[in-house]
Amino acid sequence: MATESVILVTGGSGLVGEAVKWVIENDKSERYGKKDNEKWIFLSSKDGDLRKEQDVKAIFEKYKPTHVIHLAAMVGGLFKNMKYKLDFLRENMLMNDNILWQSKEYNVKKVVSCLSTCIFPDKTTYPIDETMVHNGPPHESNFGYAHGKRMIDVYNHAYHEQFGCHFTSVIPTNIFGPHDNYELEGSHVLPGLTHKCYLAKKNNTPFVVWGSGKPLRQFIYSRDLAKLFIWTLREYEEIDPIILSVGEKDEVSIKDVADNIVKAMDFQGEYAFDSTKADGQYKKTASNEKLMKYIPDFEFTPFDVAIKESVEWFVENYDTLRK
Ligand code: NDP
Repeated sequence: MATESVILVTGGSGLVGEAVKWVIENDKSERYGKKDNEKWIFLSSKDGDLRKEQDVKAIFEKYKPTHVIHLAAMVGGLFKNMKYKLDFLRENMLMNDNILWQSKEYNVKKVVSCLSTCIFPDKTTYPIDETMVHNGPPHESNFGYAHGKRMIDVYNHAYHEQFGCHFTSVIPTNIFGPHDNYELEGSHVLPGLTHKCYLAKKNNTPFVVWGSGKPLRQFIYSRDLAKLFIWTLREYEEIDPIILSVGEKDEVSIKDVADNIVKAMDFQGEYAFDSTKADGQYKKTASNEKLMKYIPDFEFTPFDVAIKESVEWFVENYDTLRK
C-alpha cells in the first residue's frame, strides 16, 4: 500500500468491524497488523446515516479515504429477513449506492464490500462457488437482502468497466464472535442461541432451540474473518468476489452449535428442539477452494475454541451488549 493510506471502515461498531479493529490493534504480524503508514477510521451510525447521500459525502470530505472496507448493512437472521424484505432491499441498496459513488468521486484506490453466502441461488449444486452468485433466484425467505447484496457485485463490475475503479467484494459464511447482535428475535442463529441458553441457565428454564437442529452451516469466527478482510484489502486483486469460509468438511449442524454453546455456558438444565419452527435452507455449503489457493497456510481458530471465547465475552459483557 502507498504511503499515508487512510482506511475507512463502515460498520466499524458491528460484529465484523469490531473484529477488524481488534486485529489491527492486537495482531503484530506483518500480514495482518497495523502498518506505520496507515490510518484506520472506524465508523458507526453516529458518524452519519449512510442511507443519506449528504452524510456520506460529508464523511468522505472529512476523512478523504484512500481505501474503504464497507461493512455497514441492515443485517438480521431468518425471522427478521422474512418480515422486513423491502427494508432489507432498500436500506442496503441506499448504503451501497452512496458508498460506492463517493468512493468513485474521491478516487478511492480500493473498496472491499461484503456479500454473504445466503444470497446464492436457492436451487443450486453444492458446493457453491463464486461463479454462481447470479445463477438463479435466492431463497424466498431473504430475497430482499439477497438482491440488495447481489447488486454490489454488479456495481463493482460496472464501476470497473466504466471508470476503472478497483472495487471488489467478499462472501463470508455465517459469522460469530464478540460484539454480535444478541437480540432474541432479530439475531442470527448462533448469538440468538447464546442469549437463550444464558437466560435458560439464569432462570432455571428449558433451553429450546427453534427448528429441527438438522440444517448444516459453515461458521467463521469474526477475528479469523477480520484477518481475511485485511488480506483482501492488501493482497487480493480481482474484481470478482471471493468466498471467505472454513472448508466443506468443517460444516456443522445447528445441533452441533447448540451443543457447543451448552458446553461453553456450562448449562445443565433441560434442552430441546422445537420442530414446528422454520428451518430455512437445509444447507448452503460453500467452497473455500479459491481462498485456499491464494492463502493455503491460513489457520482457522477451532470451532469449540472460538465458541468458548465468544460465550465468555458474552457473559462478561452482558450488561452492555446489543440485546
Ligand atoms: P452488525 O449488525 O453487527 O453491524 C452493522 C454495522 O452497520 C454497525 O456498525 C452499524 O452501526 C452500521 N450501520 C447499520 N446501518 C447503518 C446506517 N444506516 N448508517 C451507518 N451505519 C450503519 O453487522 P455485521 O458486522 O454482522 O455485518 C457486517 C457485514 O457482514 C454486513 O455487510 C453483512 O451483510 C455481512 N455479513 C454478515 C454475516 C453475519 O453472520 N453477521 C454473514 C455474512 C455477511 P451502529 O453500530 O451505529 O448501529
